[in-house]
Amino acid sequence: MKEEIYTIPVMDGFKEDCECPFCAMRRTLEDKTIDYVLSPAYMEEDVRGETNDKGFCHEHMQRLYAEGNALGLALMLHSHMKAQHETVQKLLSQSTSGKRGLFSKKQADVSPLEANRRHFTESCYVCHRVDEIFDRYISAFFMLWKKGGEFRDLVTGSQGFCLNHFMQIYEAAAQHLSADAAKEFRDQIAALEMENLKRVEDDLEWFTLKFDYRYKDKPWKNAKDALPRSILKINGQFVDRSPKK
Ligand SMILES: [Zn+2]
Ligand SMILES: [Zn+2]
Repeated sequence: MKEEIYTIPVMDGFKEDCECPFCAMRRTLEDKTIDYVLSPAYMEEDVRGETNDKGFCHEHMQRLYAEGNALGLALMLHSHMKAQHETVQKLLSQSTSGKRGLFSKKQADVSPLEANRRHFTESCYVCHRVDEIFDRYISAFFMLWKKGGEFRDLVTGSQGFCLNHFMQIYEAAAQHLSADAAKEFRDQIAALEMENLKRVEDDLEWFTLKFDYRYKDKPWKNAKDALPRSILKINGQFVDRSPKK
């Protein structure tokens, strides 16, 4: 089955000690995609065609720059810039020739130039690739869950999920499992999530109490890193660790 190749990253995600295994998988996937864009493999025509067309969102352009691979980034940007230059040039000449004017009625009053601007500013090669592969991780996750055994123990013994991914897999169960199996799955992960939300909330509360002089000499318990863990739980964001290598 196609999903087989995605079972390893899914298992790895669940082996990480963190507040959301799916966020861990996404972070690794994002790091690998960034490395890929800057690698010599990137110069292959089909990949270049896609990055030329989609470009990058602000966050990922920042990440690409921060990698410090000046030549890799410059080669990719040069290709991207030339392609966009040509596209805009072509759209400008169409608009001045009057054949398909800047106010063409064809696309709900959006001119071809505006349509290009929207596509250009809203698309990102890295976001797109990560989203696409992450969907396959979700399928692989349910495939592993159906098999039962060690993987189920990993899931039920985990620290739960960030809220976004909890709701995502809760909903997705209906597409991947039979009605009975989906109910069993939902009951188990809902109990797991509620218990772990309470754990993080308690840690965060204890963290706030430690600012009170009456609690100054009390032990930290598990609250020292409660802030970054709470951010991951509620926002699905790693703020305390640099990108994984
Ligand atoms: Zn998550
Ligand atoms: Zn992006």
